[in-house]
Amino acid sequence: MKKPKPTITPIIISDDNLEFLKKKLDDPNLSQYLKRRFIREIMGSTCFICREMPTKIASYDMDGISLVERYCDKCFKIESE
Ligand SMILES: [Zn+2]
Repeated sequence: MKKPKPTITPIIISDDNLEFLKKKLDDPNLSQYLKRRFIREIMGSTCFICREMPTKIASYDMDGISLVERYCDKCFKIESE
């Protein structure tokens, strides 16, 4: 089934949280697992495709059921092309 056109909303988090998350993601001593956990805690979820930090929320209305996926800029570009 082809997905309908999604409604796109940017993910808005506070500067403090963004700072905190960036610091964690740049930390070479943190495992990928922990980084993804921080992304999930702060952004709600990782990018649907690459599991990196998402920046946008795409919500699809699938016959009354809304499906929410998060994407980073890179994957969003690929998906929307
Ligand atoms: Zn991505």
